[in-house]
Amino acid sequence: MNSRLRPILSTDMRVVSSINEMQFIAAEARKSGKRISFVPTMGFLHSGHASLLKEGRTRGDILVLSIFVNPAQFGAGEDFDRYPRDMERDSSIAAEAGVDFIFTCTPAEMYPADYQTWVDVTELTLPLCGASRPGHFRGVTTVVCKLFNIVLPHIALFGKKDYQQLAVIRRMVTDLNMPVEVVGMPIIREPDGLAMSSRNKYLSPDERKSSLCLSRALQSVRASYHAGERNAERLKQIVNNIIALEPAVIIDYVELRHCETLAEVAMVDNHSLLALAVKVGTTRLIDNCVLGEDD
Ligand code: AMP
Repeated sequence: MNSRLRPILSTDMRVVSSINEMQFIAAEARKSGKRISFVPTMGFLHSGHASLLKEGRTRGDILVLSIFVNPAQFGAGEDFDRYPRDMERDSSIAAEAGVDFIFTCTPAEMYPADYQTWVDVTELTLPLCGASRPGHFRGVTTVVCKLFNIVLPHIALFGKKDYQQLAVIRRMVTDLNMPVEVVGMPIIREPDGLAMSSRNKYLSPDERKSSLCLSRALQSVRASYHAGERNAERLKQIVNNIIALEPAVIIDYVELRHCETLAEVAMVDNHSLLALAVKVGTTRLIDNCVLGEDD
């Protein structure tokens, strides 16, 4: 058997750092009837990523993890250059999670000098993070589309931590008839409630403490919702009041929207998404919950 396919039959994990090679491996795997699970990431893995990998492992014969810090989804002045990277640590987490192939490549291979094709989901990308980060989702959908063409997955797993991203990717997959099953996975939190994120590494101890107001605010809104409050403005006010107690935390947005259409709602129900984005110092954090769902 071709040595490139050996991991399919063993427990060895392989790092593949060329697009052509990954495509070849994926095509061969498909020819031999294997089901490919795929988890795209920007690396600096934590337990949130590991939960996606664990689920991916159970749903496919071959588990592919991509690690690519995608320059196209970072705006000017954002943290592309300083985004945390640690391939060695990521590799050991991946091996532990049963990953067969880590795909990674350079920005120059992903976007050669003559690159000129973009995937743009129009309406779902207008509000929330799309409003604060122009061009961000165009970068995300473009790279995810490319990664799907490279990894040829049957199933791809994404976290609800990036709720709008998941909605936008579902839209892209539906609109472009991509033969990929998209699975949304629950938000994994630190024991004190902070949603796990590679960017948490930027937080000083004081900032980290202040950041707990996000999960506190979500919990408080949930409690009011369960106690019968349905007025979106009053629920948002609860969030504003809690975050106002932390001077280091600056609100970008606090919004209640329909969890599928992302349309704004005046009265909430079980399908309402509470989405928050803040800046703590220079670090941008997001968190969310759907009122009718456990986390
Ligand atoms: P990233 O590396 O931040 O681009 O994230 C890669 C994938 O992991 C995305 O689908 C994220 O939504 C997901 N993810 C990140 N943080 C978490 C978390 N705390 N819980 C669940 N999934 C997460």
